[in-house]
Amino acid sequence: MTKRRAPKIPQTDAVGDETSTIGPERAAALLAAVSRQFDRLDASPLDPGLYLVSTPIGNLSDISIRALFVLTSADRVYCEDTRHSRKLFSAFDIGRKLETYHDFSGEADRERIMSALREGKAIALISDAGTPLIADPGYKLVRDAAAEGISVFPVPGASAILSALVASGLPTDRFFFGGFLPPKDGARLDVLEAVRTVPGTLVFYETPSRIGAALAAVETVYPERTLAVARELTKLHETIMKGTARELAASFEVDPPQGEIVLLIAPGEAATATEADIESALRAALKTARLKEAVEDVSKGLGVARKTAYNLALKIKGEAS
Ligand code: SAM
Repeated sequence: MTKRRAPKIPQTDAVGDETSTIGPERAAALLAAVSRQFDRLDASPLDPGLYLVSTPIGNLSDISIRALFVLTSADRVYCEDTRHSRKLFSAFDIGRKLETYHDFSGEADRERIMSALREGKAIALISDAGTPLIADPGYKLVRDAAAEGISVFPVPGASAILSALVASGLPTDRFFFGGFLPPKDGARLDVLEAVRTVPGTLVFYETPSRIGAALAAVETVYPERTLAVARELTKLHETIMKGTARELAASFEVDPPQGEIVLLIAPGEAATATEADIESALRAALKTARLKEAVEDVSKGLGVARKTAYNLALKIKGEAS
């Protein structure tokens, strides 16, 4: 098992540090360049539409110049929790009204935003952290805006999925994001099983209170695969641990993880088995094993979905009766 703790990541809770490690001249030149970019943006008003603005996932310095501009100049800014987003706004001296759009916002709240958009307003949407709509509210609003031909502008930036994936050392060419794993044991196992043949890295969001149960489920379904647990990305205690589910679980028993977590699972061997391969493996297995065991062995052995093996096993049983 490997554990990679990032060297101390500067946490910039406030901008405009007094000390400069790059030298005052370089710092002044950088600030002037940032200011020029801001002036360029400021030269023309925002087009009307819905702006999906990504905000940092921990380190406030990860905010983009364009995000700051849009959050300053949009007609309205909607966030999940005003107390949470106020901290971000305070750090950048943006003293403006924040309105809420969250998981419990309904049709009437959406309609209020839609009518402002129809009037030609520029509306910004942020979430507590990272990219809005990614395991965060906003999908229905974007769907409705797009359906009415209203412009929707992404203002890209931090996302825990991509940060974890690129730093994990697991394959990045293809990946599958599964959101949060379900909290119930059976549903969690079903979700993990359903993505067995995905030919890419599997990425899930997790919480410290559920990571133990999640690792136990991964050990059942993918005991041999390499996992990465990326924690507190961009923050002071950023850590990326790699190993099998069993190794990681043993380590977390001694030192329970805290903070925010992304769980990544390496892809399995490419599933190249044809239907004929699965059928012949099942026929062989069914000579000595019961249906459930035969399905289990063949799906694991050939890396194919349990459902595929199960349906074929039923067909074989049907022929025999
Ligand atoms: N919209 C966000 C994004 O773009 O990443 C994700 C919001 S989701 C409600 C919150 C989850 O994202 C956390 O429970 C955790 O799984 C993951 N997450 C957010 N920030 C993180 C960080 N700094 N390090 C690791 N995981 C993080």
